[in-house]
Amino acid sequence: MSRQTSEKLPMLALRGRVIFPDTTVSFDVGRLPSLAAVKRAADGDSRIFVCAQKDADITEVTPADVYLTGTVIRLKQVGRLPGNTVRLTCTGLYRAEARAIENVDGSYIAEISELRSVHGDETLEEAYFRTAKSVMGEIASGTPRLSKDAISALDSCADPDVYVNIAAHNLQIKLETKQELLDCVRVVDRLRLLDKLLNDELEIMRLERKINASVRASIDKNQREYYLREQLKAIHAELGDDVEEKDELERRIKSKGMPEEVEQKALKELSRMGKMQSSSPEYNVIRMYLDWLLDIPWTEKTVDTENLKDAVKILNDDHYGLEKIKERITEYLAVLKLTDGLNAPILCFVGPPGVGKTSVASSIARALGRKFVRMSLGGVKDESEIRGHRKTYIGSMPGRIMNGIKNAGSTNPVFLLDEIDKLSSDMRGDPASALLEVLDPAQNTTFRDRYLEVPYDLSKVLFITTANGLDGIPRPLLDRMELIELNGYTQEEKKEIAKRYLIPKKSTANGLKEGQIRFDDGSLDTIIAGYTMEAGVRNLERNIDAVCRKAAVKIAGGDEQDITVSADNVEDFLGARRYEADKALQRDEVGAATGLAWTAVGGTTLTIEVSAMHGKGDILLTGKLGDVMKESARAAISYIRSNSASYGIESSVFETTDIHIHVPEGATPKDGPSAGITMATAILSAFTHKPVKSSVAMTGEITLRGKVLPIGGLKEKALAAYRIGVKDVIIPADNKKDLEEIPENIRENINFIPVTDVDSVFKNAIIGL
Ligand code: ADP
Repeated sequence: MSRQTSEKLPMLALRGRVIFPDTTVSFDVGRLPSLAAVKRAADGDSRIFVCAQKDADITEVTPADVYLTGTVIRLKQVGRLPGNTVRLTCTGLYRAEARAIENVDGSYIAEISELRSVHGDETLEEAYFRTAKSVMGEIASGTPRLSKDAISALDSCADPDVYVNIAAHNLQIKLETKQELLDCVRVVDRLRLLDKLLNDELEIMRLERKINASVRASIDKNQREYYLREQLKAIHAELGDDVEEKDELERRIKSKGMPEEVEQKALKELSRMGKMQSSSPEYNVIRMYLDWLLDIPWTEKTVDTENLKDAVKILNDDHYGLEKIKERITEYLAVLKLTDGLNAPILCFVGPPGVGKTSVASSIARALGRKFVRMSLGGVKDESEIRGHRKTYIGSMPGRIMNGIKNAGSTNPVFLLDEIDKLSSDMRGDPASALLEVLDPAQNTTFRDRYLEVPYDLSKVLFITTANGLDGIPRPLLDRMELIELNGYTQEEKKEIAKRYLIPKKSTANGLKEGQIRFDDGSLDTIIAGYTMEAGVRNLERNIDAVCRKAAVKIAGGDEQDITVSADNVEDFLGARRYEADKALQRDEVGAATGLAWTAVGGTTLTIEVSAMHGKGDILLTGKLGDVMKESARAAISYIRSNSASYGIESSVFETTDIHIHVPEGATPKDGPSAGITMATAILSAFTHKPVKSSVAMTGEITLRGKVLPIGGLKEKALAAYRIGVKDVIIPADNKKDLEEIPENIRENINFIPVTDVDSVFKNAIIGL
């Protein structure tokens, strides 16, 4: 071993590679100390001492982390790459050994001396050298791994020591072994080691060939496919794709029991997905799509309750009253059972909010032992909300129908379509027609959601719909449904519902035990009249909940053991009263009459005011009246004008009088023809200066000839009249048949006066006519 005098050179630590003299290599450098070393070399004579890191994973290298034997290289090219990296091309000059390494300004400088090869027994060297060349020749002919340049460089090399360097550079061998070759000083030792490596390589190559040959021989078509798949898997694994995920999906798709068409589609999409990288957006779109197909119930089904009596009991247990409705539902369930659901009509529960439409529907599900899902149609404008968006749109999803089915998890749930009268349509398509398809037994066996693209059989689903009123329901839908009306409750009924259902339900929900809270009758009266204004019991339920919550706090805090809520202490729980009880007009007044109206929250009373003043025959209508209501005001005026003589009014008066009709609570929209006779009464009173009886309320449509036509919602209106305490209610004679529906106690307290013409209205309502 001979050493030259030492010198200092910038040092660069290499990760996972050894550079040999007599070779030209390119590699990238990015670490700051390395970049500094490169700069220092470029400023000097372009030489750098490079040595391998013992562990390639270390990022901040200390002298202890590198092999001390390395190579002095010369930089031939330094190219800039994006991101502060440079690509070096360099040639290995000679081997060297570091004696000391110091850190200067953040990069290393090594004190090195050249490591010269030592020649020994020439014959032995020559023998090894020849063997090496011949084995290498065999390897080169059998594997494409060696480049043409490498082969010709090796062929033409006559120096055994240089040969070792070039061969070591081109062989695929472990870093440690390469380092060993670099460390080795005696040429004969280097050659011996190289021979061993070459023989190993040859052996591996032969083995590979053998395997390939035998594999090829036995590969038939299936195996070939398998082999290719395995290779594909290996490629995916290399790319970081999740192959197991795909296998798992395939297994799930095949065991899901989907209809043939759907399974084919799913497998097709899966195979498309198989060709994509898991990081690509399309991959995830398909992944999500397959998840949907797998989550949707295709075969899952619940078995309907066998015994109809049990079903009826559940209906009764869940709801108070509603006798006619329960009866109808019982019939419906019986038919459903006998016909196996074929051609069962779609029920539509119509009534104001909070009367139990949703809860009756969910009871039906419970009674049948089916899953229950609910979808609100309120404000649904876009067809795709029902039918889904095509999956080509980013973020697209199935529509709400299929969403509901997925949530139900069975193919035959009870599916409630809430607020079908609140559907609206605009330029984005007509949701009503999509819904029609859903509800039509002729079409719904192959319902196609746009996202899912495959048909789904909705015919096993029991659809029930609800609506507040009939007005907004598209005609074709209306034709397909059987309407079941649920009316508002009387104060007494509300109290019963509260006692039997709402109070037990809410006290348990708030953690109160039996006997810890009691509501006396007075408290319920006060809550109903002072804190709610509704046909149903939704706000009543909310208020009871609030009381229970506060009571729970008091009891939990140890202030009290048990609590009785009474009319006197309701305010402690609910704050000040929100509504003063509606009252009938206090006095008999000229130009003011009480009408009865039906609104979304049930029946209500409205006062119609008319003033006649000097002018030129103009008519002014205020109070946010709808077109129909305005028209009936004009009809009322025309009738009175044409019959003015019989009421003792000068006909010329109308030309010099302006009429202003106002319906208070101006912000609430009002419409419908049923205020016709009320307006006529107030107008006539204003022109004749005779007062209207404050104890009378009325409802009825008026024709130009003074006939009184029937109206809807009589029960709700009667409830409202009863609430404000009027004595007489004038109704159209044609509505007499509806009186049966009105609760007993109201019929006892109110005198219903049926009329056929508006003249009788005037006689009953206007004093002194
Ligand atoms: P809707 O769907 O008509 O708006 P809900 O079904 O949501 O009304 O009813 C509101 C609440 O009132 C529910 O908690 C329901 O259980 C209760 N409820 C309504 N009617 C009755 C009734 N007849 N018996 C018992 N509870 C009732």
